[in-house]
Amino acid sequence: MALANIDPKAVDRLHDLPTPEPESPIRPRKPYRFSTLCATVDNPDMKDQYGSSSVPIYQSATFKGVGNEYDYSRSGNPTRSHLQHHIAKISSAAHAFTVSSGMAALDVILRILKPGDEIIAGDDLYGGTNRLLTYIRTHVGVTVHHVDTTNPESLHAYIHPTKTAMVLLESPTNPLLKIADLATISKDVKERAPGAIVVVDNTMMSPYLQRPLEHGADIVYDSATKYLSGHHDLMAGVVTCNRDDLAKQIAFTINSIGNALAPIDCFLLLRGIKTLALRMDRQQATADIVAQYMYNLGFKVHYPGLASHPGREIHARIADGNGSVLSFETGSKSLSEKIVGGTRLWGISVSFGCVNSLISMPCVMSHASIDAATRAARGLPEDLIRLCVGIEDAHDLLDDLERALIEAGAIEFNITQNKYVRVAQRQHSDSISTAIQKLALREAVANRAGQEWFVSAPGKVILFGEHAVVHGVTAVAASVDLRCYGLASPRYDGKISVHFSDIDNFYNEWDIDSLPWDAVSPIDVGELHPEDLDPRLIDALHAGPLGGFTEDKNHAVAASLAFLYIYMTLARGTERPALNFTARSTLPIGAGLGSSASFSTCAATALLLLHRRISLPAQPAPTSVATGHVHISHQGRRAIPPSIAEEVNRWAFVAEKILHGNPSGVDNSVAVYGGALAYTRAGFGKKSGMEPIQGFKSLKFLLTNSKIPRDTKKLVAAVGEKKNNEPELVNGILEAIQSISNEAWRALADPELPRDSLLSALSALINENHSHLVTLGVSHASLETIRSKTSTPYGLSTKLTGAGGGGCAVTLLPDDFEGEALKDLINDLIRENFVPYLTSVGGSGLGILSPYAEHRNQAAINRLPRGDLGQATPPETPNEHGPGDDNALLRPSFEHSTIPELAEWTTSLGRWLYV
Ligand code: PLP
Repeated sequence: MALANIDPKAVDRLHDLPTPEPESPIRPRKPYRFSTLCATVDNPDMKDQYGSSSVPIYQSATFKGVGNEYDYSRSGNPTRSHLQHHIAKISSAAHAFTVSSGMAALDVILRILKPGDEIIAGDDLYGGTNRLLTYIRTHVGVTVHHVDTTNPESLHAYIHPTKTAMVLLESPTNPLLKIADLATISKDVKERAPGAIVVVDNTMMSPYLQRPLEHGADIVYDSATKYLSGHHDLMAGVVTCNRDDLAKQIAFTINSIGNALAPIDCFLLLRGIKTLALRMDRQQATADIVAQYMYNLGFKVHYPGLASHPGREIHARIADGNGSVLSFETGSKSLSEKIVGGTRLWGISVSFGCVNSLISMPCVMSHASIDAATRAARGLPEDLIRLCVGIEDAHDLLDDLERALIEAGAIEFNITQNKYVRVAQRQHSDSISTAIQKLALREAVANRAGQEWFVSAPGKVILFGEHAVVHGVTAVAASVDLRCYGLASPRYDGKISVHFSDIDNFYNEWDIDSLPWDAVSPIDVGELHPEDLDPRLIDALHAGPLGGFTEDKNHAVAASLAFLYIYMTLARGTERPALNFTARSTLPIGAGLGSSASFSTCAATALLLLHRRISLPAQPAPTSVATGHVHISHQGRRAIPPSIAEEVNRWAFVAEKILHGNPSGVDNSVAVYGGALAYTRAGFGKKSGMEPIQGFKSLKFLLTNSKIPRDTKKLVAAVGEKKNNEPELVNGILEAIQSISNEAWRALADPELPRDSLLSALSALINENHSHLVTLGVSHASLETIRSKTSTPYGLSTKLTGAGGGGCAVTLLPDDFEGEALKDLINDLIRENFVPYLTSVGGSGLGILSPYAEHRNQAAINRLPRGDLGQATPPETPNEHGPGDDNALLRPSFEHSTIPELAEWTTSLGRWLYV
């Protein structure tokens, strides 16, 4: 008997099962709490004729008689009715159905769909769900969009008022524990596509911790193989809903296909559910301890109970607990394999929700049915380990895990800290190298449309002459090897999107047709951009696509403005390619190190390539470097024709103008050309302009960010005022700084000068220049602290760089200053709450990853197992891949690598073409 048949008053009683009589004004009847409901299997409409305490197993396929409640167990069975009644009660549901597995439950639900319907589903789904969705996509003609459900807004673009028939959500997801705001998404879907059904896979939580029907979902299903049964001794699936029409349809499907749960399994499941609350309380309490333990060791841990979890607040609003599944990353697939193989108490097994603890690697187990390319595209790390915590003693579980971590070499005892700490792994993870391998194999570069363009440009430091440069003194600026990276990936849905991972992970997308094309004055190939920006286009972009952002998004909006402005101005006629542009930065943003110029250079280069305004040398000869990872220095660089460098620099300058108003042009020139240059402002009766410092030798510097925000304009104005008030003093200082710049320029460009002499000359000039800046009043207590920390006991020279008043300081490091002393110094600075970066100065400028397969990492190609080729089943997500496209391979790794991984990852990709 499906509960659809019972009368509405009885349904009310299911939701709110009150304590029994007597009712009195003093002790009113209250609903039972969850654990009581779980343990109390009681259906007032189905009293057992013998008063059995446990529901009997009606192991009978048929029932005698005509017109009775039960006739055939495919259509209904008394044991199943008891179970379904019980599940409806604990799920806040009017209707419950039980079928042979979780996948059977999803199958029943998906049969609601018709050819031509569209589903929006998460991008971190259980592997089996993904497989079934792929099947219905190819066999039923249903379109499936996989989107990141952690941001409700990312669904909007895919919700169609009539075509969207279903939205399929998991929260938390398995295995990355991503959180979807079920309430907001359900509300949005109802508003935008009233006919669509919101379906939630609640397996990771069970009705004890989350009841999505209470948050607007239409249908909820669980793999009851997991928590509901709790013992891994049966397979079962549960479907619940409140809507009668949906219940009718589901009951019809189950009866038609015959996948209802067998009586003996109904009995076992009913028995398991009685202890659900008890088990889960214990399991999640221990999971919390394990998550904290792994996090404290230094692993990247995914668990909504951790303060660091991005979805923690939303989850707390929707759910009553964090569950007992967590996952963590080790940085290496082989290390993960060792850890998983080394545990004894944690059983290596797929699935979760059992009273016994389990450990697994989703990419080789539960999620192996998703091909490697799609896993990479969805950001599922190959080294991910999933822990499913059981009811064993927490101490034993931690002990077992710790031993496996030690044996695998993942943690070691640190005497100073008197505790185990994570052992640093090789920087780039296996997921990244897999993506590199895949990338390396793609020959599709012959047709450059639809290809990813990967570019990079350095930041800059002013070594000498800041502030004085405003008054006509020469400044010496050089590139730093902290860089901005940009990746343009094709889209196939007529949209343009930007993703600034390091500016609060800002992401936004626009329909290309909705951009203000009326306001653009296109600039033809070969023409120059006028000196002034086009105010019409800027206003139109602010009023249209960039309107409505709050002030805290100013940085990201400015970067988007620069990107859209150049995209539109460079577009050739009606050729308007759709793309996503992601920018990452190993440079601190807004610290005076030229991050905006290096962003501008990356954006300009990617857009010039995309619009075919610049073209790369046809198949340049391989360099002599055997590995193919060429990081060509400024001096030994391969020359991309100067015309390309100039074109990039011109457009980078336009972008810089959008970001900065009135840039000098130094930052973008350093970002494009790398190395070092001397710059003198025009208008002071001297030779002005920019001159590269030829033969600049790369120097090691420690760049220390004081993290004190500064106001460049105010500082520059204050120096101007001082000059007015004390012209003699200030003019004397300016002259002295000019001599310092001249001397530094001469020393840096002198090929004969021995290295030792160069370093000691620079050291002295650094101290001198800094003391002048102090007199000009632009230093700051924090900068003086950095100076004193580096000078005693290390004897190093430090000066502020940029505007001062906070920001960064540069410390020249002698070539032999390394090892313990360097470590101590770095630790001293960190202890003072500064952020030091070890960097070299004077290296490469703009980089463009070679599009030629031959230039990709040959070693990686050789390592690729043949079996990895050609089994791609890309998700039907227009913003990720076009039909049949498998070129957008860099994006997932690029977006998911950490800042320290990023630089190493990019150098291992293959051949870079440097200007
Ligand atoms: N949904 C989730 C989140 C799962 O983890 C699983 C199984 O692991 C399923 C659905 C499928 O359930 P079953 O294995 O019972 O068919």
